[in-house]
Amino acid sequence: MATTMKHETPTSMAPAIAAATPAHALRPVVDYELLFDCVHCGLCLEACPTYVITRAEVDSPRGRIYLMKSLADGSLTLDADAVRHLDLCLECRGCETACPSGVHYGKLIEQSRVYVERNYRRGLAERLRNRVINAIFPYPARMRVLLAPVRLAERAGLRPLMRRLAPSAMRDWLDLIPPLTPRKPAPHSPGDAATVAADAPSAVVHHGCVAQVLTDAENWNTERALAAVGYRVAHLARTQCCGALDLHNGNLERAREFARANVREFEQSGADAIVSAASGCAAVFAGYGELLKDDRELAAAAARVAGRVSDLSSLMVARGHRFTHEFRATVTYHDSCHLAHGLGVRDAPRAILRAIPGVNLIEMAESDLCCGSAGSYNLTEPAMARALVGRKAGNIAATGADYVVLGNPGCELQIAAELRRRGARTRVIHLADFLALAAGANPSRTDGTAPAV
Ligand code: SF4
Ligand code: SF4
Repeated sequence: MATTMKHETPTSMAPAIAAATPAHALRPVVDYELLFDCVHCGLCLEACPTYVITRAEVDSPRGRIYLMKSLADGSLTLDADAVRHLDLCLECRGCETACPSGVHYGKLIEQSRVYVERNYRRGLAERLRNRVINAIFPYPARMRVLLAPVRLAERAGLRPLMRRLAPSAMRDWLDLIPPLTPRKPAPHSPGDAATVAADAPSAVVHHGCVAQVLTDAENWNTERALAAVGYRVAHLARTQCCGALDLHNGNLERAREFARANVREFEQSGADAIVSAASGCAAVFAGYGELLKDDRELAAAAARVAGRVSDLSSLMVARGHRFTHEFRATVTYHDSCHLAHGLGVRDAPRAILRAIPGVNLIEMAESDLCCGSAGSYNLTEPAMARALVGRKAGNIAATGADYVVLGNPGCELQIAAELRRRGARTRVIHLADFLALAAGANPSRTDGTAPAV
């Protein structure tokens, strides 16, 4: 299987099948019957970012499903080529939205990655890179230590020099790190609580792991926006990684450990709505019922948690919030994959933006095509990630918008890095921060000052 197999149909892929390896077949790991939901219609192809870039059948959802089936049947060897095509998938789930047959692609690719990690030995460099990512990213304290030299360089005004001296592979990583200006975490503003009725519905915002280090203002602004529309904001005693990184990397056991810890915390919070400023995390929470369905202690609680997951824009629309402040700006909206394809939320953020007096919303082309961020994908697959974010930046530029608003910090960092590289004037901003800005507050403040959304 090679990327040279452009435009081949699944049938014509058959001659490329290598020697059978039934002993290592994918079949015990994957929900085999789900593979047959795909009727090979190809309607998902143009919705697939990797197919759009490579035009190779094997880098399309249909091609990958055929590949999974061949692995499941034991008629295809799990070699470097097969792993390459599975690795290149962003797990954006754009194909699920496009598929008329209801193929559960996200589930299939997650299961396939578990199989790959158990049965395929990667090269040393890849193993080391993955270990570093897995050992650091889910843990905010470790992330802060890792970022300390960047923070020091920034304080000394040496970040541009640091970037220039860094090896090119490192430069892409450095570009993704936003300005690390000191931020003061603060309790919720008493002013917010005073406006909320005691019997109002409650919501809790999960602050994430990477997000609480790099983009914590979005968490606080999400809480304030919820309080401003009448939610009682509860807080978690402890925040664990949602498990997305492990799910995407085939590390099912640690994903379940994180899920169990989060389910306990969410249950303890008693919140009616579970929210994350990172739609990638929210989509994982929504999948906890499935992830822990065989957990004797927590299966029922996990299903309850999954059923309470929502997002800021949907909750605001449900409360019928009216905006009073005018904010004159031309805005475009980027659909973060897991908000649009994972949670099916597309209209609510747009409705919120249109409801702000003075905001002119212009749709960009391919608004729901992945920007290439996809968790740690932009670190592990930089070439595809750069191709995709370049395409996204072109679509943003064509709108002439002042702001591109979105609902996921990963997309924000990815798109902001590309716009900085291009010297573009458009500013990338999370919806929660945009609401704070539109209300006249400094969106990066985390000192307890509540914007009157
Ligand atoms: S999840 Fe995204 S990248 Fe993967 S096959 Fe589906 S559309 Fe393509
Ligand atoms: S749209 Fe669905 S059924 Fe059609 S090829 Fe894609 S995954 Fe298969």
